[in-house]
Amino acid sequence: MKRCLRCGFSNNEEDKFCACCGINLEKQQKETIETQQTLKASDIRFNLGIVYFKENKFVLAMQTFAGILEKDPGNSQAQHYYDLSSKANDENNLSSNI
Ligand SMILES: [Zn+2]
Repeated sequence: MKRCLRCGFSNNEEDKFCACCGINLEKQQKETIETQQTLKASDIRFNLGIVYFKENKFVLAMQTFAGILEKDPGNSQAQHYYDLSSKANDENNLSSNI
């Protein structure tokens, strides 16, 4: 049984196309796996960014979050921490100049 991710119809294992909506099931499955791999990679990157942030390595944190946002511009969590890192970095620079 191969469930279509678009319409939820249960197709036979050997079917290439969904019998209900006609979508290419093999392509759909491949794209889903690729999306999951991309998400997993950005999760690891996100955690790394948090580690940098907690260690006050704000430039590295910014670079890490910027890398995530490059691939996933809608990632509001990465955006949030990018802004925090950027702000903390500015404050650091200000206090070291005084
Ligand atoms: Zn379908």
